[in-house]
Amino acid sequence: MKRPLLCALVCALLLGGCTQPVQPTPTPTPHPSDVAVAPAESTIFAMDTVMILRVYGSEEDLDAITKRINGLEADLSVTRETSQVWKVNHAKGAPVTVGQDFIALAELAHELGERTGGALDITMYPVVRAWGFTTSEYQIPDQGTLDTLLENVDYAALTVDGTTAALPEGMEMDLGAVAKGYAGEMAADLLRERGVTSALLNMGGNVQTVGAKPDGSPWRIGIQDPNQPTGGYLGVLLLKDQAAVTSGGYERYFEQDGVRYWHIMDPHTGAPARSGLTSVTIVGDKGGLCDGLSTSLFVLGVEGALDYWRTYGGFEAILVDENNNVWLTGGLKDTFTLQDSLGYTLHVVEE
Ligand code: ADP
Ligand code: MG
Repeated sequence: MKRPLLCALVCALLLGGCTQPVQPTPTPTPHPSDVAVAPAESTIFAMDTVMILRVYGSEEDLDAITKRINGLEADLSVTRETSQVWKVNHAKGAPVTVGQDFIALAELAHELGERTGGALDITMYPVVRAWGFTTSEYQIPDQGTLDTLLENVDYAALTVDGTTAALPEGMEMDLGAVAKGYAGEMAADLLRERGVTSALLNMGGNVQTVGAKPDGSPWRIGIQDPNQPTGGYLGVLLLKDQAAVTSGGYERYFEQDGVRYWHIMDPHTGAPARSGLTSVTIVGDKGGLCDGLSTSLFVLGVEGALDYWRTYGGFEAILVDENNNVWLTGGLKDTFTLQDSLGYTLHVVEE
């Protein structure tokens, strides 16, 4: 939609240039600011998500990250029978050869599992399935079923040895809580390697940026208001070269008897996490880490999330609770602007 406008603008600038007196120009090299004004842009569907990729670079740059994202999906999808995750889940405990990305994510998930006391647990897949979130055939499992399934939930049971991974028979893993953020991170790394200095990758609730806007100003990211499921922003975040990943109870859910059940589960109960939080946004350099944290800090709740932030740091957060409080970690106080017409109470948290 924006392209014709940009073209018109570029054309106007070029035309304007033509009316200027001709200057002697020793080389025909364009000024850097005139290069790649129009982005290479595409919308793809990958990892169950509509992704809008805008790269201030070439079509080849766009193709390269599209291939990288599709490759990650092929390796990490829990439902594709050729993926590494599928093979690990169906190997009855035998070691399966896996790639670097699998290993990086397994290590990240293990570390977050430990640091959050199991709030992130990638072996929750059978429980997520029992609630119907894998098929959209939703149901509330009885507690006996959940208790039995929870006996086979333990992130620490996934072992990685060199280039192989193994999971005991009866257990199943899913990297859905971290894969999309990691995909954004890898795409951004690839763009930087290719010399791209400006890109905006919008992957559903995950936003990954490379550099700033072409004019040098930060990207302006709208953070979704969890109380306006049809859209509407909680506020605007200024972002440069980082990821912002949101997990919310409004993203995927069903309702029964007036109660809402969402897709972020508490591994200690086997049920949707009821921590009092309605949305968690994590801002940081590493998209995979941000994604894992957005899910697990949602499970931990405000106190647990802020404790985690104080203990480990390395990221910033915007937490929204069900009493309309917004908790903002100190590093975002100059870059996040809450929309004040919404009636939220803002708390800036210092270390
Ligand atoms: P989304 O992928 O929808 O953006 P998240 O990153 O928060 O959302 O990941 C949620 C997905 O992760 C769920 O759909 C489910 O498959 C899985 N999941 C849910 N709860 C947990 C948990 N506590 N630990 C690990 N994975 C989880
Ligand atoms: Mg996540």
